[in-house]
Amino acid sequence: MSGFSPPFVGSIDDGTQSCRCIIFDQKGKVVTKAQKQKQQIFPQPGWCEQDPRDIIDNVRFCIEEAVKDLQRLGHSVEEVKGVGITNQRETTVIWDRKTGKPLHNAIVWLDTRNSKTCEDLANAHGGRDAFRRKCGLPISTYFSGVKLKWLFDTFPEILAKAERGEVMFGTVDSWLIYNLTGKHVTDVTNACRTMLMNLEALKWDEEVCSKFGVPMSILPEIKSSAEIYGDILDGPLKGIPVAACLGDQQSACVGHCAFNPGDSKNTYGTGCFLLMNTGEKPSFSNNGLLSTVCYQLGADAPAIYALEGSVAIAGVGVSWLRDNMKFLEHAEESEKVARSVPDTGGVYFVPAFSGLFAPYWKEGARGAILGLTQFTTSAHIVRALLEAVAFQTADVVDAIMKGIQLTRMKVDGGMTANDVLMEFQADVLGATVMRPAMREVTALGAALAAGLAVGVWKNIQELEKVQSDTCDYTFFQSKVGLGAMLTSSEFAEWPTDGHGDAED
Ligand code: ADP
Repeated sequence: MSGFSPPFVGSIDDGTQSCRCIIFDQKGKVVTKAQKQKQQIFPQPGWCEQDPRDIIDNVRFCIEEAVKDLQRLGHSVEEVKGVGITNQRETTVIWDRKTGKPLHNAIVWLDTRNSKTCEDLANAHGGRDAFRRKCGLPISTYFSGVKLKWLFDTFPEILAKAERGEVMFGTVDSWLIYNLTGKHVTDVTNACRTMLMNLEALKWDEEVCSKFGVPMSILPEIKSSAEIYGDILDGPLKGIPVAACLGDQQSACVGHCAFNPGDSKNTYGTGCFLLMNTGEKPSFSNNGLLSTVCYQLGADAPAIYALEGSVAIAGVGVSWLRDNMKFLEHAEESEKVARSVPDTGGVYFVPAFSGLFAPYWKEGARGAILGLTQFTTSAHIVRALLEAVAFQTADVVDAIMKGIQLTRMKVDGGMTANDVLMEFQADVLGATVMRPAMREVTALGAALAAGLAVGVWKNIQELEKVQSDTCDYTFFQSKVGLGAMLTSSEFAEWPTDGHGDAED
């Protein structure tokens, strides 16, 4: 007996820097996990690509390894009832409709090559916020629609092919589902990050597509985040339905069961993303936050929205200190190195490698290290980077809370293993930081949604039970002092009437 309780649900989590396949049991325990680091391609400063064939090959590799381990534990594949997909968002893939072959490397979300495209769009259509009411987003290098426009402007032959109906576009979720099941679909949480989806109608917006010059025939069908899209066609999970799809940050919200308005979470992975559930209607921000779909758990379920503060550089800053500066051998070592000095010795690190996202949206900004003296060592710089991640989060919290003191923040993601960061974050916010023992909250979210779609769990209450049994939280208390807590009932007081962050 393995000690795990079937039925099982699989989760494929294609992050920016690594891919994972995790199989969860009915109690939400990790039964098996396979992970593979990904290759990033940097053809020019500010550019970042991945090979779409590597993305799917890595996923297939992780599926095979996870299933082998499942079988070693004495379980059979038939015990896996469904698979959920969660993915790095906005990363843009285009492929040939006939052959399924990519027509370009995937352009990764933090790539800034399209900054001139942004300027042109803003000038032509009345500023950066021209489409915010429709799609909840400012014109920025970040979003897939702007990346697509760059591709079509740069390669007219690809546009001509698209106009002949011979091209398919997708974010990474669509690319994976297409390769696994043959279906060309996406879900509302990924579609809303293209700038091409109408946030309230949950449909592709004809006017925006036409202004971006995107032929609508290339777009995938938009589905809810929890329903069966198709069965896996080959490999060890052949015949198992893909039954959920969520962008990674929205999946982490589901993984934390942030199901009530006012519930929030902050994920520290490659970047850092704080989302707060705002209920069944989108809220619009005056403070540089994005309005986004949080989840739609079933074709007939209502879409639930969130406000989001996105920070482009968090954990990938640690990777940069390791790979480019050679200050570290492993990302994990950053904790010990940062603890070897009492403070940064006056050093500040602004990790604006891809411009600054929320709340500033300055794509021309670039990184800086300030306050260097002869006393400065690599340890001070490592510590300054960790502190920078906490400061960036504090900026987003300020923008989101607008006068209401946050007291508790649930967190997840690779960087949260770092206690120095967690302690500093609690101090900077004057709030308690809650870190779950089960770190794979993003993957858990997609698994919960898939399990709901295939009947492993019946309702949201069952998901909450699974989540509370798995996510045993460690509390990092602020040494600086606590404010009042934003509970669901206090959310009723939260500014939605224009005096704070959100507009009517
Ligand atoms: P993603 O899903 O975006 O690929 P993950 O959640 O897997 O990211 O987190 C990986 C990131 O976290 C990497 O950028 C890595 O450098 C960073 N990281 C991992 N462990 C630590 C640690 N102990 N301290 C600081 N950063 C870390």
